[in-house]
Amino acid sequence: MSMARLKYDPWMLALHLVDGSASRRMTLSLEQLSEILTETRRVPTIHTVQVRGIEADPGELPDLVERARMIALAGFPQRILYTTGEGMRRQEAEEVLRAFTHVEFSLPSKLAILEAPLSEAAARQVEDWLRGIEYYARVKQAWQLSAELVVRVPARTIAGTLCERLDGLVGRAVFRVQRAGSASAFSLAQQQAGYGMKLCEEPYRVLTFNTNGQMTGCSGTHKPRVQFGSLREQTLTQLWEGEPIEAWRATRAQNQCQGCPGMGTTVRRPSLISIYDAVGEQRFHEYPQRQLQRAAEEAEGKAPTPRSPFREIFCKPRQAS
Ligand code: SF4
Repeated sequence: MSMARLKYDPWMLALHLVDGSASRRMTLSLEQLSEILTETRRVPTIHTVQVRGIEADPGELPDLVERARMIALAGFPQRILYTTGEGMRRQEAEEVLRAFTHVEFSLPSKLAILEAPLSEAAARQVEDWLRGIEYYARVKQAWQLSAELVVRVPARTIAGTLCERLDGLVGRAVFRVQRAGSASAFSLAQQQAGYGMKLCEEPYRVLTFNTNGQMTGCSGTHKPRVQFGSLREQTLTQLWEGEPIEAWRATRAQNQCQGCPGMGTTVRRPSLISIYDAVGEQRFHEYPQRQLQRAAEEAEGKAPTPRSPFREIFCKPRQAS
């Protein structure tokens, strides 16, 4: 298999397998999934596949497991299922935990809007959700499975209540609780004042395909999704580096990002902010990750001083081939 280097070194493939606005059926076809996996497997910087958008009906789980096995067979070592966990309390739990290397649970949208203190009815819904997680934790423990379980808790008033209840679950030792980032607490204007612009890396690091097999912008859900075409019409390089997606990257902050926490982990590392400011967002993301990591470590005194100053290291971005 010949390898293909893409501009910006994407590190993840994200797949929307379920269209949440429709009848919640698995709609990314096996043929389209196979095409996407074959092409993206050729990109040496992608090791992780994240499956998103599952509010699985029990009947969908065998389909989901089948697709996860295809992803494993294609050779991706990290396979993350990002799910609300709804409807996932059946015997397929063991198969889900064998097919994915990580399962990340987040609150279903109807619970994500709750505020503490919870009403009796809301508390019952939360208990139901927690029991689903508990079931997965028990299965993981019983079969000594290596898949990592993560529960994402929103950074809001409900967080304390949720953490308390999660701590009381059977099998608490086998899952991690992760508080959501706090970036969404700040307005876009505040972020622009602090950093110069919105600092989400997702458009540069994550290849996202929707349920129609179309490359789309990112995981942000606030606005209708943009579509850039499918692998049936264009090559992966044309989709990822083409004019439409580049224009969307440049303007997304104005039309899409408001209120979304995004990723932005590298740029929020303070030692990289001056480089980011000096070269601009798009050029910043063209530099290979290892080069940026080294620059950050040097600036933080964790690596030997470079022979040439940063300005010289960063004068020429890598040419995508
Ligand atoms: S901040 Fe949200 S909407 Fe904006 S690019 Fe990142 S994921 Fe997408």
